[in-house]
Amino acid sequence: MIEIKDLHKSYRMGSNSLHVLKGLNLSIKEGELVAIMGSSGSGKSTFLNILGMLDEADTGEYLLDGVPIKNLNETKAAKYRNKFLGFIFQSFNLINYKTAIENVALPLYYQKVNRKDRQEKALKYLEKVGLKQWADHLPSELSGGQKQRVAIARALAAEPKVLLADELTGALDSKTSYEIMELVQEINDEGKTILVVTHEPDIAQMCKRIVHLKDGVIVEDTFVEQVRASQYVQ
Ligand code: ADP
Ligand code: MG
Repeated sequence: MIEIKDLHKSYRMGSNSLHVLKGLNLSIKEGELVAIMGSSGSGKSTFLNILGMLDEADTGEYLLDGVPIKNLNETKAAKYRNKFLGFIFQSFNLINYKTAIENVALPLYYQKVNRKDRQEKALKYLEKVGLKQWADHLPSELSGGQKQRVAIARALAAEPKVLLADELTGALDSKTSYEIMELVQEINDEGKTILVVTHEPDIAQMCKRIVHLKDGVIVEDTFVEQVRASQYVQ
């Protein structure tokens, strides 16, 4: 699903340059649940943004579902991104004046899905995350965990092949974090490829594979005995 070869990325600030990614190699198959782990500033978000086609590497190869991303023009890239990738962020990024169901339906609106199908799909995915009863509520009426569930439903609504989550539990208490990770595990059990960027070892342990980023390279890549959320959540 994802093939990365010798990926490099630097940020230039004036005459200075910060070499953040120094030759990453990574291959992720369909159906994997992978944690990208590393301390703050290690380049996790930089890497995820490149994987998410929100940013470009300086050099190296990136094949998404067999297609070299470099060769796509802007219009094609945008289409490809919308079709293949769903995003979840630490800060939820919901639109405050729109209800839960309107937030979930929004990506479908941009994909020109008709109104009836938008409603149906949005409700289906709200139900999947356990928030059907909250469809007509505004984000301000929801808890942090509920907001992240809405954001997950929104990411799923467009039915992408890959979900990319950047510190999705970063704004949540530990019990809520485990519940959100339990939902992530469920979605992965149904076959979705998911990448979770985190600096928290407990969160990483709930994925099937941990890729450890340090000093711009992958220093460890291990398949783990996955911790199920039910071991934490009583
Ligand atoms: P992480 O997500 O692991 O905390 P980031 O990928 O956000 O790390 O950042 C890696 C390094 O790159 C940090 O030192 C950060 O300050 C720097 N950085 C990130 N984004 C930019 C940018 N747009 N311009 C300049 N430096 C950046
Ligand atoms: Mg980050």
